[in-house]
Amino acid sequence: MKKIQMVDLQSQYDRIKDKINKSVIGVMQDATFINGPTVKSFQNNLEAYLNVKHVIPCANGTDALQIAMMALDLKPGDEVITTNFTFAATVEVIALLNLKPVLVDVDLNTFNIDVNKLEKVITSKTKAIVPVHLFGQSANMEKIMLIAKEFNLFVIEDNAQAIGAEYQFKSGLKLKTGTIGDIGTTSFFPSKNLGCFGDGGALFTNNDRLAKKIRGIVNHGMYERYHHDVVGVNSRLDSVQAAVLNAKLPHLNSYNKSRQSSARKYTEALKSCNEIKTPTFSNGCKVICQNCHCHVFHQYTIRILSGRRNELANFLSDLKIPFGIYYPIPLHKQNAYKNEDYKDQDFKNTNTLCDEVISLPMHSELTDDQIDYISSKINKFLT
Ligand SMILES: *Cc1c(COP(=O)(O)O)cnc(C)c1O
Repeated sequence: MKKIQMVDLQSQYDRIKDKINKSVIGVMQDATFINGPTVKSFQNNLEAYLNVKHVIPCANGTDALQIAMMALDLKPGDEVITTNFTFAATVEVIALLNLKPVLVDVDLNTFNIDVNKLEKVITSKTKAIVPVHLFGQSANMEKIMLIAKEFNLFVIEDNAQAIGAEYQFKSGLKLKTGTIGDIGTTSFFPSKNLGCFGDGGALFTNNDRLAKKIRGIVNHGMYERYHHDVVGVNSRLDSVQAAVLNAKLPHLNSYNKSRQSSARKYTEALKSCNEIKTPTFSNGCKVICQNCHCHVFHQYTIRILSGRRNELANFLSDLKIPFGIYYPIPLHKQNAYKNEDYKDQDFKNTNTLCDEVISLPMHSELTDDQIDYISSKINKFLT
C-alpha cells in the first residue's frame, strides 16, 4: 500500500507532469512573470468553467476576502455576519478593516451557517453576510439570498473549500458556488481542490461595476496608470502559478469526482458504527450522487459521538494515519477575536463540533486499499 497522506500532491503532479512542466516553462521562456498572457488566459478559462462574467485573480484567498470587502465600500463599524466554525481568515479580514465580525452558529449536520439563526443577528449596522461553503458543500444559498434581499445586504461567498461545487435552487436552477452572491472568493493554496504551487486566489462576480472596482483595488487603486483613485493593495496571481492552474483546471471535475468516490467508500465502510456520524447533505441530496457536484469533499469530516474523538486521534497518530481536526477552537473563543458580545450559549453546535469532528485523509489520489485500511482501523477501535 502506498504511504497514506492527508493530501498527496506528488502523485497528483506525477499524473500530469508533462502538461504542467510545459505550461510553466512557457512562462519562463516568455519572461512574462507578472500580469502576462498566462494570467489572462487562466482568468478566461476559469470564467468559462464557473460560468461567471468576471474572474479577478489575486495573491491568495485571504486577500480575496479583504478585497471583496474593500470593493463593497464597507466602512469601520459596519457589521459583517459570518460563521463561527471556519478558518480564521474570514474574521481576520473583517477585523483588519475595522469592521465588526458578527458570528453565527452552524448547523450540526452540514457544518454550514445556520440560516435559522441569521435574521436574529441583523441590526441597522449590518452590511454583509459571508457564508463559507465549508469542507466542499454549499451553504443554504436559497435562504441566504432571500434574507440578503429582504434586509438589503451584500453577500460574499467564501468558496475557498468548494471550487467546482454546485448549488441547486428549488426552481431547479443550478449555479456554481461562488457565483451566486455579489462576490465570490477562492484560494488556490496547494491543498485546496484546485491548488497551485504556492499562493494564489481569485474573486468572482457577475457585476460589471464591481469587477472594474476590484481590478483597480488589486493593483494599488489604479484605474489609469499612475492615477490612484482609491486606496488599493498589491495582490497579484503570478504567471507561474497561473500556468500551473491552466494545466490543472481541465482536471478539476475529475479530481472532485475521485473525492466524491472516496467519500462514498468511506461512508459505506463507516456507516454501521454507531459512534460515527458520516457527512450529511444539504441541497436536497440524500446520498453522494454519481453525477452531481453538490459536495466536492475538500474534507471528509466525521463526528465521533461518544466523546472519544481525542482518543481516536491519538490512536491514528500511533498508527501514522494522518488526520486533521478542523477546527478545534471556535472563533468566539480565540484570543484575537473573543469579546463580551459573544455568548457561549449562542454557539452550542459550534462548541459540539469542535469536540467531535475529525477529518480523514482526502484527496484525488486516495486508493481503495488505503480507504479500507483507514476505515477498518477506525471501526475496530470504536467497537
Ligand atoms: C484556505 C481558506 C482561506 C484562505 O486562503 P489562503 O489562500 O490561504 O489565504 C479562506 N477561507 C477558507 C474557508 C479557507 O479554507
